Amino acid sequence: MRKILVVGAGQSGLQLALGLQSHGYEITLMSNRTADEIRCGRVMSTQCMFHTALQHERDLQLGFWESQAPRVEGLGVSVAAPDSSRPVDWVGMLDGIAQSVDQRVKMAGWMETFAQRGGQLVIHGAAVSDLDYFSRAYDLVLVSAGKGELVAMFARDASRSPYTVPQRALSVAYVHGLGPRPEHPEFDAVRCNLVPGVGELFVMPTLTFTGRADILFWEGVPGGPLDVFQGIKDPADHLSLTLELMERYTPWEYARATKVELTDANATLAGRYTPTVRHPIGRLPGGGLVLGVADVVVANDPVTGQGSNSASKCAASYLDSIVSHGDREFDEAWMQATFDRHWESARHATKWTNAMLAPPPEHVLDMFGAACRLQPVADRFANGFDDPSDFENFFYDAAKTEAYLAAVCEGTA
Ligand SMILES: Cc1cc2nc3c(=O)[nH]c(=O)nc-3n(C[C@H](O)[C@H](O)[C@H](O)COP(=O)(O)OP(=O)(O)OC[C@H]3O[C@@H](n4cnc5c(N)ncnc54)[C@H](O)[C@@H]3O)c2cc1C
Repeated sequence: MRKILVVGAGQSGLQLALGLQSHGYEITLMSNRTADEIRCGRVMSTQCMFHTALQHERDLQLGFWESQAPRVEGLGVSVAAPDSSRPVDWVGMLDGIAQSVDQRVKMAGWMETFAQRGGQLVIHGAAVSDLDYFSRAYDLVLVSAGKGELVAMFARDASRSPYTVPQRALSVAYVHGLGPRPEHPEFDAVRCNLVPGVGELFVMPTLTFTGRADILFWEGVPGGPLDVFQGIKDPADHLSLTLELMERYTPWEYARATKVELTDANATLAGRYTPTVRHPIGRLPGGGLVLGVADVVVANDPVTGQGSNSASKCAASYLDSIVSHGDREFDEAWMQATFDRHWESARHATKWTNAMLAPPPEHVLDMFGAACRLQPVADRFANGFDDPSDFENFFYDAAKTEAYLAAVCEGTA
């Protein structure tokens, strides 16, 4: 039986470990936290996942929370004007539902399932020296440790990483008590509120320990008026500031939020990181090789909600590459080919995310405006969150956007 070590128990590491386990591999999973520590810890993400990524989980019978998590049927976009009005406001319908399950719930649950199914779970924050030793004891070492310190083993790929500093200051609050959404009370949606030059507010339903909740997620342009959460220690202060900024920049969202309270004492998060693509193979001091997974090698800003989706897609792609490799050696050429196959999909998420971090060009603003009256345009943009490769066809290039809008108007798109 082939022995594989997975380092890091997040979306990609757990999905891959459980998937490999179901194929009969002998898997050791190394996590720097126990399931209970994850459960009792701070929120980590907003983790909204779209159809393709959710389907990869379903394929492995891992959609444990699907019947409890809110069904996200749409994706809305609003653009705020300087007078705090909302000249652009629409919602596109998703072809398949999206869902967000608090990663504290999901990762703790998956970790326990992995152990119950006979997997070897080691609670230890792996260092490079550990990996040096383990690379000799295992057929393959996969590093799925997110944006932690182990990324230092993987060199930054400058040709695929246009940014050298964080592009947004992130601030998250999980709340209960958000009022119904007047625009479409009959279904749930992720709502992106763009405040030009200032940042974005995302509001999305999620499932946490205490049931259904909503997430208020500000993405602030660094140095701007939303970049004010860094030193705040008290969660109540974090929530007050979140709401103050909503009242000022997105009063239509604030109107629903006047009675909210935090879901728990660890329901807030603030931070920032630089979007980075890395070379996928880490070379250990003793000569061994390790393969980077998901955020370790492709960490995009969450402005487009692609990270967990890409992590799921990466786990599914790596699983297939490992299984189809049979008993052959996991050598450097295989590692590179395995990453290249994933990059074929991840590059679209990266290109689109990096584009959305820059101020929107005129033709994109035109398209957002047109989506108010052309439902197919709203729907197509919404479904791009599931399959960002489609943006090549109508988003980046002004001539393609124009041709697409003309075709929708003529009824030929
Ligand atoms: C504020 C915010 C909002 C987001 N919203 C979304 C969204 O709506 N949709 C979406 O798709 N993505 C979103 N993302 C991104 C998404 O959360 C990540 O991209 C995704 O979790 C990455 O999965 P991963 O498996 O690569 O890493 P992670 O999920 O980060 O897991 C890595 C794990 O490795 C562990 N670890 C670290 N170092 C070590 C070590 N040395 N030894 C052992 N274990 C270690 C960590 O504790 C962690 O458990 C968001 C991110 C943030 C920060």
